[in-house]
Amino acid sequence: MQVAENTVVSIHYTLTNNAGETLDSSVERGEPLAYLHGHGNIIPGLENALVGKAAGDKMDVTVEPAEGYGERHEQLIQQVPRTAFEGVDTLEPGMQFQAETGMGPRLFTITEVGGEEVTVDGNHPLAGETLNFAVEVTEVREASAEELEHGHVHGPEGHDH
Ligand code: ZN
Repeated sequence: MQVAENTVVSIHYTLTNNAGETLDSSVERGEPLAYLHGHGNIIPGLENALVGKAAGDKMDVTVEPAEGYGERHEQLIQQVPRTAFEGVDTLEPGMQFQAETGMGPRLFTITEVGGEEVTVDGNHPLAGETLNFAVEVTEVREASAEELEHGHVHGPEGHDH
């Protein structure tokens, strides 16, 4: 079976940036990633490259930011007063929270905590990065009616609910 709209695709992948650093690897986790094709479950650049592939196919895919996690927006890096975090006992770099912006709700990450001000970054950690995927397709199957209805994969490698 080939990868097409409404198939469930399992892949092993290793993701590196242009500096050659490994950012993510399903191989290291020991479990392939399963996703429902054609539903925007994974970034467009990778999803498009998988069309027509079959189990056993291997490939290298380079994804530019526009087809990945987007460009970095400097205006999403902001200084906010500590008092904006009323009720939070400890503020540390790496903490994440959701906030409304002119671009819709976004996940912000605290990058620096000062005495009076906290620096937050609303960019995806991989925004602006060119992504290099080494991919192996491990399985392609039909999606179940329930998976299609939910728009995501069920089972051991997917959603559990
Ligand atoms: Zn579901």
